[in-house]
Amino acid sequence: MILKRSSLRLASSILRSNLGRLSHPYKLNFCVTYQCQSRCLTCNIWKMRPKGELSIAEISMFTSRNPYFSWVNLTGGEPFLRRDLVEIAELFQNNCHPHILNMTTNSLCPPSRVRLMMERIVELGIPRVVIALSLDGPEEIHDHIRGIPGNYQGVVETAQHLEHLRDELKIVFSYTMSRYNPMMLQKTIEGLREELPWVTPSIFHLNVAQYSENYYRNEDGGFNPDPDVVEKEAEWLRTQNRGLSMFEILEHRFDRGIGSFARSHQPQVRSRELDATIFLDSTGNLYPSIMSNYRLGNVRECDYDLEKLPAETVEHVKKLLEHDLMPAHHTSCEAYPAMLADLKGFLW
Ligand code: SF4
Repeated sequence: MILKRSSLRLASSILRSNLGRLSHPYKLNFCVTYQCQSRCLTCNIWKMRPKGELSIAEISMFTSRNPYFSWVNLTGGEPFLRRDLVEIAELFQNNCHPHILNMTTNSLCPPSRVRLMMERIVELGIPRVVIALSLDGPEEIHDHIRGIPGNYQGVVETAQHLEHLRDELKIVFSYTMSRYNPMMLQKTIEGLREELPWVTPSIFHLNVAQYSENYYRNEDGGFNPDPDVVEKEAEWLRTQNRGLSMFEILEHRFDRGIGSFARSHQPQVRSRELDATIFLDSTGNLYPSIMSNYRLGNVRECDYDLEKLPAETVEHVKKLLEHDLMPAHHTSCEAYPAMLADLKGFLW
């Protein structure tokens, strides 16, 4: 019954997003912690020393006062560094009944710990649970980009610890293209298949390394990939991905726009941030998207209730968005709901 209700609620939000603005966002991108053990060349989150992150009691208030999220993305930092990650997922399940919960990991936590936590999360009964393991190249290249020797083997071992859950848990690999891994996608997948024969190109999600002052804190930059390479990699992946699941159809369209974004920095579809999606960081700050520097407020200042965000600030940001005055981006956090709010775009 919950399955039917949650899927209908998500479908209804998606359909309504094609007709106009929504009264509440249905997708929450939540950075549960900025702690991270990695040393990535493309992201500076690992340099942060976060203090005052939201407690489980505060997250409980947030979920009970904003119960309309039917798609929850728990990201970081490294989410599995939060010892209460399972409890966080449980709060969303109890108070929001999401249809989709997706999560990320850098595979630097002990695989046995990730396994135990994911077994408990899967048991919560959320209909679609997805975990994305970051993987940016074959062993030597991945470990160089991530700055941690042995990280590639950590990815393999984490996947091996999770593979028994594959009936209930979708495992995908999140591959970020930068100038450090040109034309390495096919080699990465072939190498991974030697240790994980069930891996196929269709479970690879492409990202392009992007700048974000507020989130990745990487304005120092210098990592942009060659747009020709991005286009070739995305085109190759599209030829491999001919599936008809919702994920594969979304990925097909996402990959269609990634090359042009790398070249022009213009998204393929208009963002629906602060409409279909919103970003909450681990200290309670709210932003329209993970790529936006414009803080809407802090949940601690609005009684953990999005309805009580300062109306003037929200209206101002809506106007900036309407006039395309916010940073452009092409991330799965925001692009998926944006594509789903433009269903006719799937027809061509
Ligand atoms: S990309 Fe992920 S793993 Fe790397 S520093 Fe940023 S949050 Fe950490």
